[in-house]
Amino acid sequence: MPSIDLDRLKQGNRRALAKAITLVESKLDSHRMEAQQVLESILPHTGNSIRIGITGIPGVGKSTFIESFGLHLIEQGKKVAVLAVDPSSPIRGGSILGDKTRMEELSRQENAFIRPSPSEGTMGGVAQKTRETMLLCEAAGYDVIIVETVGVGQSEYEVAAMVDFFLVLMIPNAGDELQGIKRGIMELADSLVINKADGESINLAQRTRQHYQNAFHLIKGGGFWNPRVLTCSAMEKSGIDDVWNMISEYRELAIKNQAFDEKRSQQNSQWLQKLIHELLEMRLHQNPDVQQKMPSLFDQVIRNKVTPYSAARQIVDLL
Ligand code: GDP
Repeated sequence: MPSIDLDRLKQGNRRALAKAITLVESKLDSHRMEAQQVLESILPHTGNSIRIGITGIPGVGKSTFIESFGLHLIEQGKKVAVLAVDPSSPIRGGSILGDKTRMEELSRQENAFIRPSPSEGTMGGVAQKTRETMLLCEAAGYDVIIVETVGVGQSEYEVAAMVDFFLVLMIPNAGDELQGIKRGIMELADSLVINKADGESINLAQRTRQHYQNAFHLIKGGGFWNPRVLTCSAMEKSGIDDVWNMISEYRELAIKNQAFDEKRSQQNSQWLQKLIHELLEMRLHQNPDVQQKMPSLFDQVIRNKVTPYSAARQIVDLL
């Protein structure tokens, strides 16, 4: 792996950025070390972006929305990076986000950088790499970072934990059911945006908006921000500016209430805690004594010779 030209990365050179991301995504231990050095040296140049998470079920219009939204931001003079956290797994088979040509117009823009999801590893591993990629993009001068995911499994929690603003896209639906979106997601959302508010769906979209706005009144409140529900048409590019204005307003309010940096600090310390757990677990499984002792202890637990607690203690004591 050729080493990374940090100066060119900081000047916004896309090749240097892409190379650094490849390094961060690498599984090799030696790359991992080098990646950490790169990250530490760019750390002072990170943080100067607004990080926006976007989720929604397949077909809701995420890529169409991000394309319109991204183009709008570029018109405003912004540099936009789009990262994906794809929850696809060997079990589920294939990728949910990356299997079609997406955001074609946006991807042709000089000031847009689109990077598909790292494919490797556990959900936590993918999120870890995306967080690091986000830092690299910030160092390269991207001032809006969009992290996209499908609302499947844990991925929306992972993404919500790494962004400043979490947006859930939905489609017009007057029904009471939260169209495949878990109720927990309402707790994560800073905003719901009802997409496809066009053609015959305009009225339905308005009713849906009202429905969710009422739902928010019931569950949220108290803080400096009450989640908002907006409508838009990503296809007709209407309502897109309202979404950006809302996010800008959020940022201003959050900063004024000392909540912006506070949230990032909290996210960072939670990230650290998670990493400690993950590294400890990795070290445990790599330990030869543990590897040797584990099967027999499992066996004894299964045969009720040893309690699970005592077996766990014996394993951990080997470290
Ligand atoms: P994703 O799976 O969430 O990324 O959704 P896509 O962006 O691929 O969109 C799914 C389908 O919905 C496509 O056929 C889009 O053309 C369509 N679509 C997306 N946004 C809109 C919209 O604002 N209005 C309408 N009518 N269709 C849309």
